[in-house]
Amino acid sequence: MNEGKANLFEMALKQVEIAAEYLPEIEPGILEKIKHTKKEITVHFPVKMDDGSVRVFEGYRVQHNDTRGPFKGGLRFHPNAHLDEMRALAMLMTWKSAVVNLPFGGAKGGVECDPNTMPSRQLENMTRRYTWEMAPFIGPDVDILAPDLGTNPQVMAWVMDTYSIRKGSAVRRFEATARGILIVAEKAAHLRGLAVKDARVVIQGAGNVGGTAARLFSHAGAKVIAISDISGGIYNHRGLDVTKALQCKRNNNCVTKDEIGGDEIGNEELLQLECDILVPAAIENQITEKNANSLRCGMIIEGANGPTTPAADAVLREKNIYLIPDILANAGGVVVSYFEWVQNLQELFWSEEEIYQRLKRILSTAFEEVKVLSERHKVDMRTAASILGIGRVAEATRLRGIFP
Ligand code: NAD
Repeated sequence: MNEGKANLFEMALKQVEIAAEYLPEIEPGILEKIKHTKKEITVHFPVKMDDGSVRVFEGYRVQHNDTRGPFKGGLRFHPNAHLDEMRALAMLMTWKSAVVNLPFGGAKGGVECDPNTMPSRQLENMTRRYTWEMAPFIGPDVDILAPDLGTNPQVMAWVMDTYSIRKGSAVRRFEATARGILIVAEKAAHLRGLAVKDARVVIQGAGNVGGTAARLFSHAGAKVIAISDISGGIYNHRGLDVTKALQCKRNNNCVTKDEIGGDEIGNEELLQLECDILVPAAIENQITEKNANSLRCGMIIEGANGPTTPAADAVLREKNIYLIPDILANAGGVVVSYFEWVQNLQELFWSEEEIYQRLKRILSTAFEEVKVLSERHKVDMRTAASILGIGRVAEATRLRGIFP
């Protein structure tokens, strides 16, 4: 069993307990229910490899809670994808949907594999076979899949095609998470007397979330001074040419080439750079009690899920580093997925601008609600967001009652 992954679920449960202290109205039975996942599906499925051999993959879908609406959550392809990790991420998804007040629950799925080393044909076969096995448990009224670590619009198109859902929606969703990060960063910066256009930004991860965030921050006038991927990063205190960096990532699958202009830097070093805004947008467990004390950023906007451990949270509070937690900061993706869902159901078509304005309204409201709770209870933004999300799910559970 992978220690780090087990941790993430423990971290999520610990956060529930912290938030529950501020929610005395939740009955113990309801608290117990929402600490458990509703359904956990594990499948083993064979895929024909290019050399004619057959490999059996292990895939999961964990459905945490659907009290407020259908399950909703990402699909992750990663060598460390593990059931415990899925449990934690599914639970975070439930709180996230509730923080932004959407009629969705939370789920997460994954396949233990390394998509970077798989030829496209094999990736397609694996995706289709996983979807086929999961088909009885998913669908637009039951459980809605979204891209996550190691998956992209192409993978989602294979999922949709295999499931025979209308194609097209995943493409518009592509930028949504990063757009949300920028909206939330603007609100947080404002509170700290800073404008994003004047900020120095450091981003860990150059994928869907981190790469897109780098582009959007740069368009907004911010100076993106460092970005990385799994093999390391690049730093230039005068600001990077983000277009070149992302081009390099696309062409060479890394951001460490000379042509970008800057110094190569390791991921650990990158997290400790002096900056105004740090956006961890890669994987979980990056800011821990080991390195939290060395951080020199003004604020952290969590693009990734679970990048900060509870012990690191305590250090960051001491250092007065303002942290906007994952369940608020990266909720842009689920909000825009919800818009797609509503548009499909009602046969509507909203323009990009309309979608952006609606996203901004929803995230701004959630941000304000979390801030009010943080001031009322004198707690950090993570605890405040958990109080809001968990409180909403608990209330819905109470209203619906425990069956039978
Ligand atoms: P992705 O696969 O597109 O990109 C991940 C990036 O992180 C890549 O550049 C990869 O090289 C880098 N990376 C991986 N391991 C690393 C490591 N150990 N150190 C440094 N860099 C590393 O994934 P994504 O969709 O951008 O997701 C990133 C994070 O954001 C995940 O935690 C995911 O759960 C979360 N998230 C994603 C979405 C979404 O819409 N895609 C929404 C909400 C949250």
